[in-house]
Amino acid sequence: MPEGPEIRRAADRVARVLVDQVVEEAKLHLPNLERLGGRLAGCTVTAVDTRGKAMLTRFDNGLTLYSHNQLYGRWYTMKRPRMPQTGRQLRVELHTATHSALLYSASDIEILTGRQLANHPFLSRIGPDVMDRELTAEHLLARLRSPGFLRRRTGSLFLDQAFLAGIGNYLRSEILFVSGVHPARRPSELTTPELRKLSSNAIRLARRSYRTGGLTVPPSLERQLKEKRWSFEKRRFHVFGRDGQPCHFCGDPVERLTVSGRNLFLCPGCQPRQPDRFPESPGC
Ligand SMILES: [Zn+2]
Repeated sequence: MPEGPEIRRAADRVARVLVDQVVEEAKLHLPNLERLGGRLAGCTVTAVDTRGKAMLTRFDNGLTLYSHNQLYGRWYTMKRPRMPQTGRQLRVELHTATHSALLYSASDIEILTGRQLANHPFLSRIGPDVMDRELTAEHLLARLRSPGFLRRRTGSLFLDQAFLAGIGNYLRSEILFVSGVHPARRPSELTTPELRKLSSNAIRLARRSYRTGGLTVPPSLERQLKEKRWSFEKRRFHVFGRDGQPCHFCGDPVERLTVSGRNLFLCPGCQPRQPDRFPESPGC
């Protein structure tokens, strides 16, 4: 499933063709939404925002198109009148005078008034967005220390959208690894420097992934792996999807666990369950 950085990049693409433009034609191909397409036609798009893994396309009449891509949803942007060659099911069509933004396969789509948006069951439940520029490491540190999260295992906490929205499976493994924290450890068991690393790395890795199109490894390591002719997919992550392969930093084989029903990857050397000394940061 795409995570915060991928959703934000998709939102940027959609924003480039829609923001400040009049939507001349809007079609919603979902049984209970078809009649609402007409309410968007003739309106100007004011912003394309993200909240966690949800995208919010805002119109100047106060309505917002809410879409959550889940596993399969995908936005395409095209110059009119071109349409993508895809076998996917078309759900939303927004056409300006020159471009189209088209959402395929997603089923979690709603048209919301300002009031409905404020009371939306998913949006009102989720925590701060990891891609929000206003979010600071200090804010996250306070969150890790708050009673609701302090005694949760970090492995499940860093997948919980109510704690931090936009973090998904690859970011969870990568943040814990770079912070040297084993997923079974709880914020209440961590030192202040470890909590600080978790807070700053969560924001830093998500922003790096957004900026680079999906890399969480630092530029120096990426260059080394590229020189060894590793493919993009192979060199993207420190541990995610690398079970059985040696850790880039200590050489221990990367392990795979199931935590909260999803695969979690870790290095037992860099992320000891019970550190007997202050662990070296794997760097990054
Ligand atoms: Zn290691």
